[in-house]
Amino acid sequence: MAGLVTVGRFAPTPSGRMHLGNVFAALLAWLSVRSRDGEMVLRMEDLDTQRTSAEYAETLRRDLGWLGLDYDRETPAQSTRKNAYDRAFRQLEELGLVYPCYCTRSQLHSVNAPHLSDGTYVYPGTCRNLTDGERARFARPPAWRVRVDDRQWVVQDWVQGEYRCVLSRDCGDMVIRRADGVYVYQLAVTVDDGEAGVTEVVRGMDLLSSAPRQMYLQELLGLPHPEYAHVPMLLAADGRRLSKRDKDLDLGELQKHLKPEQLMGWLSHAAGLIDRPEPVSPRELTKEFSWEKIRGDHIFADTQALLNMG
Ligand code: GLU
Repeated sequence: MAGLVTVGRFAPTPSGRMHLGNVFAALLAWLSVRSRDGEMVLRMEDLDTQRTSAEYAETLRRDLGWLGLDYDRETPAQSTRKNAYDRAFRQLEELGLVYPCYCTRSQLHSVNAPHLSDGTYVYPGTCRNLTDGERARFARPPAWRVRVDDRQWVVQDWVQGEYRCVLSRDCGDMVIRRADGVYVYQLAVTVDDGEAGVTEVVRGMDLLSSAPRQMYLQELLGLPHPEYAHVPMLLAADGRRLSKRDKDLDLGELQKHLKPEQLMGWLSHAAGLIDRPEPVSPRELTKEFSWEKIRGDHIFADTQALLNMG
């Protein structure tokens, strides 16, 4: 990609305080961009207006500042982007790939429905070929799906290596707009990353299986594919995934015990970037950073040792 400007992004969901895993992914996203003098974009992913709030968004901006992870611009929050998503929806409709789906949640999750080993539900195409007459008989508003095909997608992930996916087998036709009119994450992310000119997507490994879906939508919408890096998840000592529910590890709590340099040192040591968990600033780390050093598997976080550093 010589000659092209690197553009990365933070795409947090403002539904609570960042936890250790969010900070870890944000640090790596920032280092990847800043080590190549790239541009960093912030975007609030607040499609779920019930769970997100402007207060949390403001706290997130402040927390990024405290961590020393700066950004160059903030693009409009997803809750304000309905027109852009409508345009993309029409574009997909014009390709003849969009159809209404009337399945209820219980139909979709019935025991007969196919599931992958990871629990992902594969849509069997129930409403794919309904006639207009059959559609007219449903009295409720439909969700809208885009048809997928049986090509194999290969994500060349900077951390996880090759990840392969056949959408027709592994996911089925994808919902892009819910019955209540709200656009789904996959479509919104694709449109927003494309419009912001994002060249690399760095996020938690839990979203690896979303990459092929987004690559498919990018192709349909005429958008370039970014590079991908899905970084390891941080696990508690008992193997449980750290999440926003683990209040003890959110940034509010961590700030009471630690200086930002201590937290950065501990995280970059966990990532394999430095030999000892000594205090360090993100700026100093840009010299050490290389994706080759980042391990792909889960990281067990000895959070007690972390808190004891303070
Ligand atoms: N908003 C998502 C999250 O906070 C991240 C989505 C993405 O990076 O594509 O988990």
